[in-house]
Amino acid sequence: MYEKYVNILKDHSIKITSQRLEILKYLDEHHTHPNVEEIYSELKKKHPSLSRTTVYNSLEILKKNRIVQSLTISGSELRYDIEEGLHHHFLCKKCGAILDISIACPNMDRTLDGGHRVEEVQGYFKGICKNCQTKEKGRRING
Ligand SMILES: [Zn+2]
Ligand SMILES: [Zn+2]
Repeated sequence: MYEKYVNILKDHSIKITSQRLEILKYLDEHHTHPNVEEIYSELKKKHPSLSRTTVYNSLEILKKNRIVQSLTISGSELRYDIEEGLHHHFLCKKCGAILDISIACPNMDRTLDGGHRVEEVQGYFKGICKNCQTKEKGRRING
């Protein structure tokens, strides 16, 4: 069950700890871009001795190895995402949902032409998500 995550850590020559495995599993199963607090409170249910600092430090190590990426789309708060190729993000200003947008960055090729190695591309889109728009419409009809 954890084999996939064990292999990820092995591939990056990072020490395998149960906390790191749990964090990877959580991010892999929840593509909601959670913050440290959400990850911490969720994992704490299963591991009562877990500390917030450990979660934070583990995330930093995973980030350094580019297994996990952090987003600042919602302001100062960091939101975490398991790295699954380059993708952009959409933030709903109404419900706060952060959604993955899988489109290629048109500037990418131009950057690569310059001979640089791009390791991270962040496109932040903000607006009102589909769900919230549907709710808005429903309210207008009913009210
Ligand atoms: Zn929304
Ligand atoms: Zn994402």
